[in-house]
Amino acid sequence: MHEPPIAQVAATDPQIAALIESEAQRQFAKLRMIPSENYVSLAVLEASGSVLTNKYSEGYAGRRYYEGQQFVDPIETIAKQRAQELFRADHANVQPYSGSPANLAVYLAFLSPGDTVMGMALPMGGHLTHGWSVSVTGKWFKSVQYGVRADTGRIDFDEVRDLALRERPKVIYCGGTAIPRTIDFPAFASVASEVGAVLVADIAHIAGLIAGGAHPSPAGHAQVITTTTHKTLRGPRGAMIMCDAAHATAIDKAVFPGLQGGPHDHTTAAIAVALKEAAAPSFSTYAHQVVANAKALAAALSGLGYTLVSGGTDNHLILMDLTAQEIAGKPAAKALDRAGIEVNYNTVPYDPRKPFDPSGLRIGTPAITTRGLSPEHMPQIAAWMDEAITAAKKDDEAVIERIAGNVRDLLADFPMPGFTQIA
Ligand SMILES: *Cc1c(COP(=O)(O)O)cnc(C)c1O
Repeated sequence: MHEPPIAQVAATDPQIAALIESEAQRQFAKLRMIPSENYVSLAVLEASGSVLTNKYSEGYAGRRYYEGQQFVDPIETIAKQRAQELFRADHANVQPYSGSPANLAVYLAFLSPGDTVMGMALPMGGHLTHGWSVSVTGKWFKSVQYGVRADTGRIDFDEVRDLALRERPKVIYCGGTAIPRTIDFPAFASVASEVGAVLVADIAHIAGLIAGGAHPSPAGHAQVITTTTHKTLRGPRGAMIMCDAAHATAIDKAVFPGLQGGPHDHTTAAIAVALKEAAAPSFSTYAHQVVANAKALAAALSGLGYTLVSGGTDNHLILMDLTAQEIAGKPAAKALDRAGIEVNYNTVPYDPRKPFDPSGLRIGTPAITTRGLSPEHMPQIAAWMDEAITAAKKDDEAVIERIAGNVRDLLADFPMPGFTQIA
């Protein structure tokens, strides 16, 4: 059953209530290994489901365009201060609706249409909003894109520097969505300062690892840091922009009134709660365990003969190339999902296949670590993945069903915040 209970949804709208209940059950019964997903705490869930959703608060604390901000102002101020402390930033804006609008605010703050932005190409591990062609950031701005080396799967800083010197971007993005390795913030900072670009570290995926000390921080290297709050940071769906004092006004003006209207106050409160949780010592344990689990899983998958981009992982995610297994990413991901293991199909660098039917899988450990799984469980999970992928090639649904049962049995012992098992 969903926790807290949703009796009123059930009374008003049984159809939606049943779907929410099914989703809670699904999240309980599956190994959720999409690296951008997690399970939020009950405290975060309560704050995001609170009456704050009723409020309008355009503007910033002390300078609002609506009355009745007696309690919203301190909530937003607390969230902002916690973000500044946790990420060691002069300034934080906690209002962006999500990661993509947060990045758009950065463009609005520092670029005019046609100006040059440099980011990592989407198929190499970057994000759509780092200048990819189908995104507004690639359509309305001149975008130059770097990648990773074909032989190492890692960023080549000579290439990044040459490109930056030739193209003179005003903004350089580092970070991405499918980068299994530590991001070298000082190396990016040195290129950015050489060409006079604003360095933006998009830490959406790794914010929780940084908060917990399991990945180096961009603080002091990137003038601007953008992040979602709902991935490894384990907060509500939302985003934040952190920056140094010199860029604070431009960022605030870009978020409001430049791009958005009223902030989502219920999300702001939930971000504040998540940031308090992320500052606790137990969160540092969590962040390190996420990495330990990913490394253990990567070692087990390598041991079973799978090709991992860059050979392994330093963080929460693994990018696996299935070319040698002679199965594409999509049918493999679909078979794994039927086997109770949820991952996503993904392009690998220099993928010869199409983006909607790519060669790889992207696998992450943030959510299963929240459930309480540890490195000793990873060889079993790798073995199940291998069995399911092999079964998919032979259309052996019996094996896939058996694994789904094994997964359910394993997870029955690991509680999920947001769901109570009925005896
Ligand atoms: C997830 C992600 C985003 C976008 O966040 P949304 O909330 O989905 O808009 C931006 N940048 C990176 C690097 C991400 O991983």
